[in-house]
Amino acid sequence: MQEYDIIIVGAGPAGLTAALYSARSKLKTLYIEKLSTGGQAATTDEIENYPGFPHGVTGPSLSAQMEEQAKRFGAERLAAKVEKLKMDGDLRIVCTNKGDFRAKVVIIASGAAPKLLGCPGELKFRARGVSYCATCDAAFYEGANVMVIGGGDSAVEEANYLTKFADKVTLVHRRNSLRATKVVQDRALANPKMEFAWNSVVEEIEGEDVVERVILKDVTTGEKRTVEVEGVFIYVGLEPNTDWLEGQIETDEHGYIPTDDNMRTNVPGVYAIGDVRTKLLRQVVTAAADGAIAAFHAEKYMESKFDHK
Ligand code: NAP
Repeated sequence: MQEYDIIIVGAGPAGLTAALYSARSKLKTLYIEKLSTGGQAATTDEIENYPGFPHGVTGPSLSAQMEEQAKRFGAERLAAKVEKLKMDGDLRIVCTNKGDFRAKVVIIASGAAPKLLGCPGELKFRARGVSYCATCDAAFYEGANVMVIGGGDSAVEEANYLTKFADKVTLVHRRNSLRATKVVQDRALANPKMEFAWNSVVEEIEGEDVVERVILKDVTTGEKRTVEVEGVFIYVGLEPNTDWLEGQIETDEHGYIPTDDNMRTNVPGVYAIGDVRTKLLRQVVTAAADGAIAAFHAEKYMESKFDHK
């Protein structure tokens, strides 16, 4: 079995930063990712609150640069699906569909995935008009009417982005005020291509082979109405990717992993960073900071536990 000092599960901004710090400390570092690099951030068209990029940077570009930086210092990448974490005395074993790997420290950076809305029609029309990624699919909706569900940063930012392609974007929110950051809200509220369906929820997504219309319900009056749209983009929050841990690491009531200030979980030698961690602010900058802290502390842990040089 191949052995590493540190194995990082996930290659979003948190995982890639941990890989950079770990490899730069000359620790034998492997990061494992089942999808493409960058995590949720790579599905964001423009990131304008990551310091050092005064004019913004695209998610794919930032992710690619983070990966290049980690690799430059010797971090190794494995494209595989992580299936299990096993304990082997003081060592940890990461089991993947491409074999098992042993490490002194495992850093969990497996992120979070879009939550499903759970309305009738959502799964039937997934990839046939229902999408969770505007950056991936917006170009299919040139000149169309589309709908975005949610009122957080993701929904409002991506709705703004969709107006570059669609003729009209209707943002459906279950309350009458948005949760998104003020600057993002103001941009959306001033966008002439945006319409808002306040106090509204989706009753059903309908169509023949592809999405044709959505039935909305006003939660204050109970009134229903039909809106003709070709695309529905769902941004109703995230769910942590922790199923693969099979309950071996403590999680909170929402499935996120609580850590201390050094990113330590309840299991020695196992850290959690980025969106998968219980935290207040889920941003690229906080993910990167988590990664740096975990790698730094992991080195200290290895020095004390394994007499690591
Ligand atoms: P979020 O902040 O949790 O917002 C989810 C939105 O969906 C809320 O407006 C919520 O309504 C609504 N919602 C939840 N369940 C719903 C349901 N069943 N039906 C209808 N609406 C529902 O999620 P997010 O926007 O994906 O953001 C996740 C995290 O990433 C946040 O911490 C966010 O700040 C961060 N983020 C940051 C940036 C950035 O800084 N540029 C960009 C994207 C994401 P209520 O408001 O009524 O709860």
